[in-house]
Amino acid sequence: MRTLWTPLLCVLACGGEEPAASDGTTTGTTGTTTTSGTTASTTEGATTTTTTTAEPVTTTSTTSTSDDSSTGSTTSATTSATTGVQECAGELPAHWIDGIDCGSEPQVQVHQYSADTWILRQSLCTSFEGPFMMLLFGSERALLLDTGDGNIPIDDIVHGLVDDWSQAHGGAPIELVVGNTHAHGDHVAGNDLFVGDADTSIVGIGEAAVRQFFGIDAWPEQIVQYDLGGRVLDIVPLPGHEKAHIAVYDPATGVVFTGDTLYPGRLYIADFPAYVASIGRLVDHLADKEVCRVLGAHIEMTNTPGEDFEFMQASHPDEHPLELDMAHLLELRDAVEAMQEPVIEVHDDFIVYPL
Ligand SMILES: [Zn+2]
Repeated sequence: MRTLWTPLLCVLACGGEEPAASDGTTTGTTGTTTTSGTTASTTEGATTTTTTTAEPVTTTSTTSTSDDSSTGSTTSATTSATTGVQECAGELPAHWIDGIDCGSEPQVQVHQYSADTWILRQSLCTSFEGPFMMLLFGSERALLLDTGDGNIPIDDIVHGLVDDWSQAHGGAPIELVVGNTHAHGDHVAGNDLFVGDADTSIVGIGEAAVRQFFGIDAWPEQIVQYDLGGRVLDIVPLPGHEKAHIAVYDPATGVVFTGDTLYPGRLYIADFPAYVASIGRLVDHLADKEVCRVLGAHIEMTNTPGEDFEFMQASHPDEHPLELDMAHLLELRDAVEAMQEPVIEVHDDFIVYPL
């Protein structure tokens, strides 16, 4: 059930236009990952899943060379025979932490999506927002997209992943760039934890900082490229949910990272005309690109079509998968372009939610 006060509360809780201040405090223990845990593998289905459990971090690495027919433990991207994008085979976990068992659930679930891509989810036990964060590696630097809603040792976790990646690739230090999909508090609360860290740059919060860092002169029409070293990302201005919102398209994996503009949940729209224009520009930009998946920053839908969780619900039983695809982006574009005036509109996998 949805209530009319939901958007207002979310604006307050999500930080509104201004970034939420972080006091830099963390709770819990450090993000050290141990090697204790369980390992399960099946050779029949050519699927190997290794799960390492530690407090407060769980690392799940999954590789698969075929559609999983034996365990149902992973979901595979549909690889078009015409795309030729190898990384379309990036893997998502069978299950994200969902806040149902806070006694055993880690503060952050760390999932290796592909060789150079990690997806992190903040536990609903630490924030009802349960935001996702992305870490993309190139040969020269890594880009962290979002830092969560606070009360997690995101700096320790990410620096650990960067150090591990560096060690596995010759040992030279690699720059960490801390950026954000947009300026709302549930995505930037951990930024301050990275201030002053070695080999670390911070994009900064808000439109001016984003423009300056990425060299975007004509916001929001200009799409720029950002090179991680052999991995060039498209940075797409995407105001509407929030003024400084961006999407990131990664040709290496065929993934579009859409933050809070499109995810399986309530798509809060603060500036409707800007949002409609942004979706249109993103669709146009992707028209000649290979898109394997569309990954946003939250899950608020259940597995029942059109049914969402309550606002601020502390756990997500039977949660919708994170992944959406290009068809959803087109469905969203068509929906908002067809609206004579902004109205709440329930779709199977997302809800258009003008504020
Ligand atoms: Zn959010």
